[in-house]
Amino acid sequence: MQVIRSLSQMMQLNYPLGKSVGFIPTMGYLHRGHLSLVEASKKECDITVVSIFVNPAQFGPREDLSSYPRNIDRDLKQLEKLGVDYVFIPSEGMIYPEGFNTWVEVKALSEILCGNSRPGHFKGVCTIVLKLINVVRPDKMFMGEKDYQQLMILKKMLRDLNLRTRIVCCPIVRETDGLAMSSRNSYLSTADRALALSLYNALMQAKKAVSEGKTDAHMLIALAKQTIRIAGANVDYVEILDSRDLSEQETIDEHSRMLIAAYVGNTRLIDNLSLSSGE
Ligand code: AMP
Repeated sequence: MQVIRSLSQMMQLNYPLGKSVGFIPTMGYLHRGHLSLVEASKKECDITVVSIFVNPAQFGPREDLSSYPRNIDRDLKQLEKLGVDYVFIPSEGMIYPEGFNTWVEVKALSEILCGNSRPGHFKGVCTIVLKLINVVRPDKMFMGEKDYQQLMILKKMLRDLNLRTRIVCCPIVRETDGLAMSSRNSYLSTADRALALSLYNALMQAKKAVSEGKTDAHMLIALAKQTIRIAGANVDYVEILDSRDLSEQETIDEHSRMLIAAYVGNTRLIDNLSLSSGE
């Protein structure tokens, strides 16, 4: 495994002719969710590249950039074990040199859900992902459904800007009790860890209600909000949207997806689930 810390070295890297390149952009502090993306890339592609970069541009002024968990040594050990070919670890100055002033924005899709509570977040995400794609030049980029809105926004960006990289969506990896794995789970105290499970419980409750014939999205949303509030977490949003384009839905169908963001103490957590029985 080669660790590359130089932008020009990564840009000039010659991949062997005809070999497919899979890429997993991350902010590090890797867990089994990230590693599942690496495994998917190893299965589908000849060469696997992982980037680790805590992107300041996607954090708001009052968010957790300075406290975001980091452990590069442990990350590298995990990636080496999985047989990753290249790990790209750029510095902030390389990515955003003095005078940097070009931003990529996907309108509309970036203004709902997390974009509403985190203004500028997706502009930061789109810009860093486009820059990393230009540097790494992957055929496929492996991303988790954990960040479902991000996935939809980046797919749209790739289409709108005629990029040849394709996104491969990978399922959410969960702890045994159902909590979606996240680097931010490391912030949770034992008491908060129990409250955090209310997001998953609310999603599963909605899925069960749908399997029993409930189809009114407003009723299901109200029920989910109540479950989270009763547990003691603060709801940011609960929405039921069409999984193909994130448009609003009044009535449940096979494309319905429930998306949740909630604060457990100071920690903002997100999760989502398809409400159809097939998934
Ligand atoms: P992050 O390091 O949080 O920027 O995440 C990097 C990638 O890992 C993104 O594509 C995430 O969607 C994905 N990811 C994060 N958590 C999970 C999880 N629990 N299951 C699957 N993918 C995940």
